[in-house]
Amino acid sequence: MLSTLGIVLAYKSLYGIFYDSLTGLPNRSLFIQELGERSRRHQPQSSTAAVLFVDLDRFRLINQGLGHDVGDQLIVSTSQRLRSCLRPDMKLARVGGDEFAVMLPTLKHLGEAKAVADQIQRQLTQPFQIADHSIYSTVSIGIAYNQLADSMPGEDLLQDAQTAMYHAKVLGKAQHQVFARSMGLQARQRLEVETHLRQAIKNQEFQLYYQPIWSLDTETIFGFEALVRWQSPEQGLIMPDKFITVAEETGLIIPLGHWILQEACVQIQTWNQQFALLKPLIISINLSSHQFDQPDLVEHFESILMESGVDTACVKLEITESAIMSDVEEAIAVLNRLKSLGIQLSLDDFGIGYSSLSYLHCFPVDTLKIDRSFVNQMEEVRVNKEIVKAIVILAHNLGMSVVAEGIETEVQKNILKELKCEYGQGYVFSKPLPQDKATELIQQSLAK
Ligand code: C2E
Ligand code: MG
Ligand code: MG
Repeated sequence: MLSTLGIVLAYKSLYGIFYDSLTGLPNRSLFIQELGERSRRHQPQSSTAAVLFVDLDRFRLINQGLGHDVGDQLIVSTSQRLRSCLRPDMKLARVGGDEFAVMLPTLKHLGEAKAVADQIQRQLTQPFQIADHSIYSTVSIGIAYNQLADSMPGEDLLQDAQTAMYHAKVLGKAQHQVFARSMGLQARQRLEVETHLRQAIKNQEFQLYYQPIWSLDTETIFGFEALVRWQSPEQGLIMPDKFITVAEETGLIIPLGHWILQEACVQIQTWNQQFALLKPLIISINLSSHQFDQPDLVEHFESILMESGVDTACVKLEITESAIMSDVEEAIAVLNRLKSLGIQLSLDDFGIGYSSLSYLHCFPVDTLKIDRSFVNQMEEVRVNKEIVKAIVILAHNLGMSVVAEGIETEVQKNILKELKCEYGQGYVFSKPLPQDKATELIQQSLAK
């Protein structure tokens, strides 16, 4: 009796070392062992093995928004769907919170691994029905493979697949990428940015610049777009395209975005009190899709508006099409709740990538911002002028106003006036300015 109990206990503790208790799948260390064994078994024949590293794209938000029980059930359901995509000889493991790995022990060509990745992606984009919630999920997948003649340690192969997975995330998620050596360097650089970024948020090294938005017919300042900059003591001024993506992937965009909203609201309130303007200035603030997905966004933003004492009609949030196209119905609900705070909404970078045209009339949006890629080449590329013209007409028909971004020449400015575009922003008027220079610009415009 005692010895049976001993065996059961020993089995349980051994099981706990090598298997994940939630899904019953092998864990990371067993997966790496199995990879190693596979490579020993197959030597010296040179056949290829591949590892797929699969990561759920928005798992943290699901966990935060719907609770850990739902999160756990999603992990279990995901593991079952993954299993259903695999041949019996392929090994599946749970190697992290929302991370799975698949070993394809023999591979004739790389296309096979890609086909499995495609199949996984298709399976996992079908909505999950968990505790009254329809959960839409996507995955990013990294693929690494080795000729066994290389006899690469299993751990390295898994690491390479993970690096490729990060690359897939950076490129926009919901896709797969095959590992390349250059990705290793990029991954290290990314890690460095992440470490510095954490430090920078603690040390408050961020600053808002303000780029004026002009009324094209009166050529007066209508408002400003707040654009974040990182003033690094070591590297000087760093532009947002160097750190916003990392901030989004690491969740650091949440505290950073909170600060940006606060700072911009306080600034516009200060300017509108300081200057006797005919019309109060409007501040446009960029909202990352990660902020948009936060379940408590509206409550958070409401408290920022209250604390700053800003007139909510002077605040406009800029949201990109991609942020709202992943779940249109949910997005419309969030946009309506934001609108109910009394603020305005703008669709940023309009016209590129996603085609939200068929939904546009459902979005409670006040303004379309035409992407600068169309504005920039209106003179040279005739079709761009036609596109701008069509967007202006479309917006007006839907009762929206239009801001043209990236106006760099007088000719572009005049074409836009002709097309009845109301507002414009770009180097022809002014580059983004630090707070003191923007204040001077308002003063000068009043003196005219
Ligand atoms: P965006 O929201 O489309 O901002 C406009 C970008 O165009 C700004 O780049 C601005 O400096 C640039 N720009 C303005 N006029 C011209 C022009 O005439 N010619 C050219 N070539 N460029 C012009 P910036 O400041 O580097 O920001 C890039 C992007 O980073 C922004 O695109 C936005 O998506 C993101 N971003 C900036 N600040 C924030 C922020 O506070 N929060 C979030 N979530 N994203 C931000
Ligand atoms: Mg913007
Ligand atoms: Mg834009």
